[in-house]
Amino acid sequence: MTKIQKSIELFKEAKLHIPGGVNSPVRAFRNIKSNPIFFKKAKGPYLFDADNNKYIDYIGSWGPMIMGHSHPRILKSISKQLQLGTSYGAPTSIESETAKLIKQCVPSIEKVRMVNSGTEATMSAIRLARGYTGKDKIIKFDGCYHGHVDSLLIKAGSGVSTFGLPDSPGIPNELAKKTLSCEFNNKDDFLKIFEKVKNDLAAVIVEPIAGNMGFIPGDHSFLKLLRKKTTENKSLLIFDEVMTGFRVSLGGAQELYKIRPDLTTLGKVIGGGLPVGAFGGKKKIMDFLAPNGPVYQAGTLSGNPLAMAAGSSLIKMLIETDPYKSLEIKAKNLLIGMKRLFEKHDIPFSTNQLGGMFGFFFSEKLPKNLNDVINTNDKYFISFLNKCIDGGIYFAPSKFEAGFISTKHTKTEISNTINKVKYILNKGL
Ligand SMILES: *Cc1c(COP(=O)(O)O)cnc(C)c1O
Repeated sequence: MTKIQKSIELFKEAKLHIPGGVNSPVRAFRNIKSNPIFFKKAKGPYLFDADNNKYIDYIGSWGPMIMGHSHPRILKSISKQLQLGTSYGAPTSIESETAKLIKQCVPSIEKVRMVNSGTEATMSAIRLARGYTGKDKIIKFDGCYHGHVDSLLIKAGSGVSTFGLPDSPGIPNELAKKTLSCEFNNKDDFLKIFEKVKNDLAAVIVEPIAGNMGFIPGDHSFLKLLRKKTTENKSLLIFDEVMTGFRVSLGGAQELYKIRPDLTTLGKVIGGGLPVGAFGGKKKIMDFLAPNGPVYQAGTLSGNPLAMAAGSSLIKMLIETDPYKSLEIKAKNLLIGMKRLFEKHDIPFSTNQLGGMFGFFFSEKLPKNLNDVINTNDKYFISFLNKCIDGGIYFAPSKFEAGFISTKHTKTEISNTINKVKYILNKGL
């Protein structure tokens, strides 16, 4: 009997009914060659698995649990709405309320449309950009993930920024060719591709702070160049802030960098743990959407009242408490503590954090792009992650994912984590 016996059995069962046993691939723990943990409860900074093991959670459902799991105020908002019905398929006032809260925090957003996931948000933003500009081509960056949208599931070879090849079968080559991928944080690479395709360029889409190749902030001068070139060319700049929106600061990465994109995509935090995405931006662009304009976009459950109740109550709490500086200090304390231990054991380890997001890498130098992350040490990562999870510390099970901290992580959880890392390293990775 192992201590995750139930998770092992539940995974076996799940594999009979669900492809790979999961509804989203990273959950399967393939990256760390291990059995996923099945959970049954979460509270504050903690997750509880099917075998009743307790974990300090540093994923927070990939962002939304910024105020901790099962926050009483969010649960109360959901249950209040629950009494009134779960979906009407018709407008409600809480949609405008949520939209106003988003606009208040993210000034580049003048109008916003709700959808049900981050993927839907980026897919719709790309269609709108193409419809609005009357152009077809998209530039993205290697290692930036924008959901599983056909046009965006392309990273175009290892640094060789030629016409895109799809990352998955099922994406027509003809469509993939319209997406070009450049190296993240590489101005020369971007300029080279930009010059080639600028006459047919609808949009440049970027995670201003990448959270899907570990955690890698864009260089300020790199992001400024994207803004300058797209403006000059009358192409749109889309900031994909599905992960960073309401996570690194109230106004997202664009607030930290003081750069205003034309369109912004949101998700994760804005749903307060329920399925929500959104895209928004300049009024004149957003009004190109149906029913005002010709670009079609719709959703049966979009703006769902239950999801809006959860999301708006979380955004209100974030506005009231502005927890970002304190989250960053906590993440920094955690990482400094870990780094000291790794240094003592002569294991290369680099770290970074902003607001409620962080990353660590098994490398001397902090990675700046996807190739740097690929070249970090896998053996150390896999061994460390498995030992952490076994020891009740739930970090993201892939070196291509970021870490998340919540307001409910206190000094106790941070020091318990550091002590566990110390124990793990003393026994040897
Ligand atoms: C998670 C994520 C998406 C996709 O959102 P889903 O809700 O998983 O569809 C898109 N872009 C970024 C930056 C993300 O982190």
